[in-house]
Amino acid sequence: MKHDIFSLKGKVALITGGNQGIGKVVSRYLADAGADIVIVDLNDASLVAASIAAEYGVRAEAYVCDVTDRDGVAGVIAKAAASMGALDILFNNAGIVYHKAALDLTADEWSSVLDVNLNGVFYVAQAFANHLVANGKGGSIINTASMSGTIVNVPQEQASYNTSKAAVVHLTKSLAVEWAPKGIRVNCISPGYIATEMLQFIRQDWKDYWTSIIPFRRLGTPEELAGAVIYLASDASTYTSGTDIIIDGGFTSV
Ligand code: NAP
Repeated sequence: MKHDIFSLKGKVALITGGNQGIGKVVSRYLADAGADIVIVDLNDASLVAASIAAEYGVRAEAYVCDVTDRDGVAGVIAKAAASMGALDILFNNAGIVYHKAALDLTADEWSSVLDVNLNGVFYVAQAFANHLVANGKGGSIINTASMSGTIVNVPQEQASYNTSKAAVVHLTKSLAVEWAPKGIRVNCISPGYIATEMLQFIRQDWKDYWTSIIPFRRLGTPEELAGAVIYLASDASTYTSGTDIIIDGGFTSV
């Protein structure tokens, strides 16, 4: 490539929820594009980091942190920045799903989903952006929303999840506008049904129904999200902010 606009060489990417699923796979692709990697997860992802470092010849570190712990998040970002020398890219991806009828949801069940999927995304984005501003740098933040922020999935009942993801899409736009003068771009991806550990214990009849109505007639893979994240992280997207890229095998077009 004469113009290597998708290269992430010399950049450091921090990925939340990178111990499994989408975060784990996308971390490998970001490393393949040249980025050094920092994985932040509820669980210890040091084995994932070590295997990325060995396979792609980049630096890779792992930190255990709950994204709902605002002080913990700020601490991890400071530690990772000191260790890596800089931070440039945030793939703000940790999230949970909860299936229960809205009529029966307890306050705790409602709050736990909003806390991880919305508050956690905000705490990490805010701490990351504060780090960039304090260092006089720009950067790129990519949040993981969902097609559930645009449509209401059936047959499962998941009002808390849908609401949290719609909020992530609008948070993305809000931060994009506020932080544009600071050189910080903020975008999101909205995956459709993606075959990860998150879907491991989902009822087979639901999965069968989903695939019967997805135009591609199959679930997506985490690998099929990596290109969009690399695009949004790289200099290929320097005029792109506040955008939501829906990657769903055509689901939301039906
Ligand atoms: P996953 O396989 O369950 O992986 C999520 C990762 O995030 C796990 O390692 C999890 O740790 C971690 N995590 C959860 N809560 C956390 C917290 N409070 N602090 C730090 N880390 C936390 O899920 P996935 O399918 O890769 O999903 C990743 C993102 O994509 C989520 O935001 C999800 O909503 C979104 N998404 C997924 C799909 C899909 O079909 N899979 C579709 C649209 C959007 P534990 O294992 O310990 O919980």
